Amino acid sequence: MNNPLYDRLIGHRRDSDAVLLHMPQGGIITYADMAARADRIAGLLRDCGVVKGDRLAMQCPKSPEALALYLACLQSGVIFLPLNTAYTPDEIAYFLGNATPKIVVTDPKAEPALLPVAEKVGAILLTLDAAEQGSFAAAVAAAEPVADVCACDTDDLACFLYTSGTTGRSKGAMLTQGNLLSNAEVLTETWRFTADDVLIHALPIFHAHGLFVACNVIMLAGGSMIWLPGFSVEAVLAALPQATTMMGVPTFYTRLLDSPEFNRARAGHMRLFTSGSAPLLAETHAALHARTGHAILERYGMTETGMNTSNPYDGERRGGTVGFPLKGTELRIMGEDGRELPAGQTGMIEVRGPNVFKGYWQMPDKTAEELRADGFFMTGDLGMIDSDGYVTIVGREKDLIITGGYNVYPKEVEQLLDQQPAIKESAVIGVPHADFGEGVVAVLVPEAGAAPDLDAIAAEVARKLANYKRPKAYVLLDEMPRNTMGKVQKNILRADYAELLEPAPGK
Ligand code: ATP
Ligand code: MG
Repeated sequence: MNNPLYDRLIGHRRDSDAVLLHMPQGGIITYADMAARADRIAGLLRDCGVVKGDRLAMQCPKSPEALALYLACLQSGVIFLPLNTAYTPDEIAYFLGNATPKIVVTDPKAEPALLPVAEKVGAILLTLDAAEQGSFAAAVAAAEPVADVCACDTDDLACFLYTSGTTGRSKGAMLTQGNLLSNAEVLTETWRFTADDVLIHALPIFHAHGLFVACNVIMLAGGSMIWLPGFSVEAVLAALPQATTMMGVPTFYTRLLDSPEFNRARAGHMRLFTSGSAPLLAETHAALHARTGHAILERYGMTETGMNTSNPYDGERRGGTVGFPLKGTELRIMGEDGRELPAGQTGMIEVRGPNVFKGYWQMPDKTAEELRADGFFMTGDLGMIDSDGYVTIVGREKDLIITGGYNVYPKEVEQLLDQQPAIKESAVIGVPHADFGEGVVAVLVPEAGAAPDLDAIAAEVARKLANYKRPKAYVLLDEMPRNTMGKVQKNILRADYAELLEPAPGK
């Protein structure tokens, strides 16, 4: 039976002794082991009456079983919904209410809180116990394994993946088997993954980066993963000697650089480090190069599209940029008048290609707002293409500040503020202002125990930036509000400081 994604990821290696997972405490799981685990879970799903097109939600810690569950869903044509383990039962209630899955798989710790939520939507709750004593393991053991593979084509839905909720409520992006497959194929080729690769996998698997980039690319290539339960500097340092590649988010790299043991001797043999999901500072890129000899390959993507751009494998990996559109992906920069902008000008990033999702589940209006009839997806990000073709992300459209008719890109101001003494990080936002429409406000988090000199900072800003870009007020905060993916939630800051400047009367 034809099932393009399952076949390419594991179907043709169902009998292979090649290693898929190296467990950090020792032990391996081969492709054949993983396929057999998925067969047993597929048997359980069948026993539960689950059929092609049904949905299965998973909120579980990372484990080999969680990966087997994903593969079993592909094998059975079931739509997979991985959910962030940090979500509270209230948040989960929203996702389950939206997606109405037939099955919810969780872990023993979360089970008591999730049971009423699952019952409310009429879903069967299964408890996945990594120690293999829970109801899930027992139910799986009792189920007759099936080796059947449900016939699917590239237009069939493979998953609903919820966006990170940085700019508002998370939306369920509907991704097809073809979306995931095209992404995995192009990344495997662009980043030269082969069966010899051993990837340090320290990412969560409820997000596009950890599952649909890292796992899919490795399985497509036939390589293996060092399957870390999460990121820690020690675990990555210990894994480095056996590894060839690592995919990470910027904080992985800043934290590794804090350790003197992360150096050329330990990491020089690696083939590739990639970064994405959030902006990598050009300084981090330079520091890693100086320390290890590696230029991190930064790329840009999102839940709705998987990957859009990548710095080149061969050729210059330019810090502060996200490289070129991937093969098959068209990327254009649009002005406010709806016309495409030339190189060097900043505008709205739109992408089109086989990676672009089918829309947001049960949100036809939102889908129509963001997916153009010609197939281009309006990413909500602002960026520009330089004369060499490299794309730079300037920020999010929703974060752009328009003050007195001038555009202020927060990133430019934040970069300057982040360099000031005693400042750990900054967020620059626009809040209502009677005269200018919006006024610039800087929210600063000081280094631990430090007291920043705000007058000195304002003076430095005045030296470096045009008047309209300068913050009209500075606010000190102990910690930035972040969502569960660690991204700063500027919508919360904007609401908190809406009255800080002089909003127009009645606003
Ligand atoms: P929501 O859409 O719910 O507000 P979100 O956009 O943060 O949440 P994701 O799909 O997880 O949800 O994140 C994609 C976004 O992350 C991109 O639109 C972009 O703003 C940002 N991003 C990803 N990679 C990079 C990168 N390399 N540089 C800068 N920004 C990046
Ligand atoms: Mg988004």
